Amino acid sequence: MPGFELFGDLEQKEVQDVLDNGVLMRYGFDGMRNGHWKAKALEAELENTFQSKHVQLVSSGTAAVSVALASAGVGAGDEVIMPTFTFVASFEAIMMLGAIPVLVDIDDTLGLDPEAVEAAITPKTKAVMVVQMCGSMANMNSLQSICNKHNLLLIEDACQAIGGSYKGQPLGSIGDLGCFSFDFVKTITCGEGGAVVTNNTDYYLNADHYSDHGHDHIGDDRGAETHPYLGYNFRISELHAAVGLAQINRLPEFIEIQKRNYSILREALSSIPEVTFRTVPEGGEESYAFLNFFLPDLETATKVSKAFKNNGVDACFHYYNNNWHYIRKWEHLKDLKSLFPISEDVKNGLNYLKTKTFEKSDHYIARNISCLIKLSWTETEVKERATKMVEIIKRIV
Ligand SMILES: *Cc1c(COP(=O)(O)O)cnc(C)c1O
Repeated sequence: MPGFELFGDLEQKEVQDVLDNGVLMRYGFDGMRNGHWKAKALEAELENTFQSKHVQLVSSGTAAVSVALASAGVGAGDEVIMPTFTFVASFEAIMMLGAIPVLVDIDDTLGLDPEAVEAAITPKTKAVMVVQMCGSMANMNSLQSICNKHNLLLIEDACQAIGGSYKGQPLGSIGDLGCFSFDFVKTITCGEGGAVVTNNTDYYLNADHYSDHGHDHIGDDRGAETHPYLGYNFRISELHAAVGLAQINRLPEFIEIQKRNYSILREALSSIPEVTFRTVPEGGEESYAFLNFFLPDLETATKVSKAFKNNGVDACFHYYNNNWHYIRKWEHLKDLKSLFPISEDVKNGLNYLKTKTFEKSDHYIARNISCLIKLSWTETEVKERATKMVEIIKRIV
């Protein structure tokens, strides 16, 4: 997945452009910038990539999720349904707005289980946040019909799935709002950055204003602009956008490399009867950012994960024991270890986490190994890696 592996002349040229004219900020300074608008240019490129009407760049993927929720009016007391397997950013973004994260099980797609979503809906539910983890997607058809039936927003966090698609639609462009991250370990990087994607012009204008202190961006005098509502600062800088502008043009090349490397590893592992793969919904095309597979049980997965590490097979994650991506190790959330007071609403709303268990999620995450697909591997290196992985797994199962 990491775009950080492949950058060079193109990125340097774009950044140098910004340094040469000296305007590091994305808004204003029209006279000084000699026609260079890197953030605007990247937004136009991304609208094309995501086949969507609007893209608003922001400072991070986490900011993108918060801005998306805020733009659609999610806030204090609202419940947002999200999966147990994701990145901590999901509940951080929800809680920043005073809303309540409602964690529910995943299924064999490694994404939200539609049945668990439907069972968690209450009169307070405002949105469902689907997270397209590790380059693939949840059952989008079912989730969309649940959201339509109950009149809920569908927010799509596609931070890990740029380049994937469902029934021909780019992941991240399917929900009411989509979110992307361009941090240093994502497929396309800006160093730090993120994007909100939507076809809804009201949500877009809200995102545009909210991410820049409520500025209405009308006219060419920032000081004279009005602020129709409260905002915050989640701006991206021109330097970061410049890196992304060079990277986005290379997305098809990156996806092709990922697909080649993924396919070599998958074919090799398919020869082991005990290994199964995550379900990709019909009509879905992965981004090939990760290869995810299941082993028969927790004990086998733990042994394989350790053996991979000890034998130089790096970048394979056993998320069951990971601090950042799975609920099991989120004591700071369960115990509400906040630096500042949290509202009674949110405290009460999160009480369920003290007792709720997630057997279905455990069933999948305990047995899952998730291998990052790197862009810098040569074909020979991937083949050697595949052989090594097969040897290790066969020795253990
Ligand atoms: C990386 C990531 C984020 C957050 O992105 P940042 O740019 O690092 O803030 C959010 N959700 C998921 C699924 C991610 O992988």
